[in-house]
Amino acid sequence: MDRNIENYDVCIIGGSIAGNYLCFLLSKTKLKIAVIEEHKEIGLPVQCAGIISQKLSELIELPQEIVLNRVEKVKLVAPSGKFIRLSGNERPYIIDRHALDLLFYSKVKDNPNITYYLEEKFKSFKYRYLVQEKKQVVLVETSKRRLTAKILVGCDGPLSAIAKLMGLKYCKLYATQIRIQGNFRDDEVIMHFDPRWKELFGWIIPEGSNNIYRIGLASAKNITRNFSIFLKKLKIDSIKAIEHQGGVIPYGTLNKSAFDNILLLGDSACQVKATTGGGIIILITCAKFAASCIIKCFKINKFSKKFIKSNYEELCASIVGKQLKIHYIIRYLLEHLSNTDFEYLFQIIKTSKIEHLISFYGDMDFPKALIFKLLKNPLVFTFLIKFTLKHPNIFIRLLKILNK
Ligand SMILES: Cc1cc2nc3c(=O)[nH]c(=O)nc-3n(C[C@H](O)[C@H](O)[C@H](O)COP(=O)(O)OP(=O)(O)OC[C@H]3O[C@@H](n4cnc5c(N)ncnc54)[C@H](O)[C@@H]3O)c2cc1C
Repeated sequence: MDRNIENYDVCIIGGSIAGNYLCFLLSKTKLKIAVIEEHKEIGLPVQCAGIISQKLSELIELPQEIVLNRVEKVKLVAPSGKFIRLSGNERPYIIDRHALDLLFYSKVKDNPNITYYLEEKFKSFKYRYLVQEKKQVVLVETSKRRLTAKILVGCDGPLSAIAKLMGLKYCKLYATQIRIQGNFRDDEVIMHFDPRWKELFGWIIPEGSNNIYRIGLASAKNITRNFSIFLKKLKIDSIKAIEHQGGVIPYGTLNKSAFDNILLLGDSACQVKATTGGGIIILITCAKFAASCIIKCFKINKFSKKFIKSNYEELCASIVGKQLKIHYIIRYLLEHLSNTDFEYLFQIIKTSKIEHLISFYGDMDFPKALIFKLLKNPLVFTFLIKFTLKHPNIFIRLLKILNK
């Protein structure tokens, strides 16, 4: 092996939430880990609205200083301006996303087995067979060095170079957001639906102090124009914004995430809810599977696609994959609702006991239980049947998604 090439057990590309959290989980082992991050500071630039379900504190030890606010209600606004307010058991966190990324980084940065290479870009990789050791490793090339790893982990986000090299394709949404002082409620999140940004919604999220709100929008196209239409609707002047943020959201169902010596985690594997674009709870859940899979790989010295698939990809598919499919189906239906359909659905929610159902069974991340309960409501069921009969092609597409 070339002496100028450093050898690692694990090389993680991307030092954001997926990369840092996985590194933290692996820091309890003796594995030698390299993390490659193209930005010079961990967690910056922020590309997140920072709303996360309360499940976060079940999954990780959540320091209070990361939580800026908690909301109790969600206000859903139809294209006509009519709205419904939902409240219930869920009290999502509004977090300081930069601080969350730093949390796990600060726990591992002084570990002698872990090296962060900042301001360094992953470029490509090749498989290399080590004849003496009779094993295959990955030779990684970055903008500054070459290194080998027995496992390469792609935590490189929605535009993942590793996913691209593995031939994966995603649909993408473009998101933009400002932080600005405003005059909204501090205890509720507002979601504006509109056919012009039908792939997601416009949002207003209260930080909970100094009347600062995160106002943003995501759509598949015309993002700048749509955002200015949205701000005009809200009578907000973006010149007064404290900060502008933006980013890309992968959009679809779970993608392949296991290959020989390689696995993908987070946005790079499309571990994202299609209803909201939220990825943090899902990727933290999958990171735990990734860490235990990697530990097993080293324990029994197996790094094949087959092994990683059965110990990681299939676990993710069984725990979060089905739920992500439901998110995608809901999103697909929402995308195809006309303004009249929206009005009618809001009417049903207001006049029947559905508000209570949503409050009681609504889980921001795992909606399966709620959907089954909703389907038992005769008004919702009839609405869906009529909608399906009117749009048979949508029904066929939904069946395809279910069978995928
Ligand atoms: C505007 C916006 C709002 C969002 N709001 C929410 C929300 O409210 N709640 C929620 O749960 N989720 C939200 N999300 C989604 C959430 O931010 C992502 O799911 C999450 O950040 C994914 O984490 P990740 O570590 O997989 O990828 P990322 O956070 O995208 O991190 C990828 C990292 O890899 C690095 N990288 C990429 N390519 C290379 C390379 N070639 N070499 C070296 N480094 C590289 C990047 O610099 C980055 O640090 C939002 C997303 C956007 C864009």
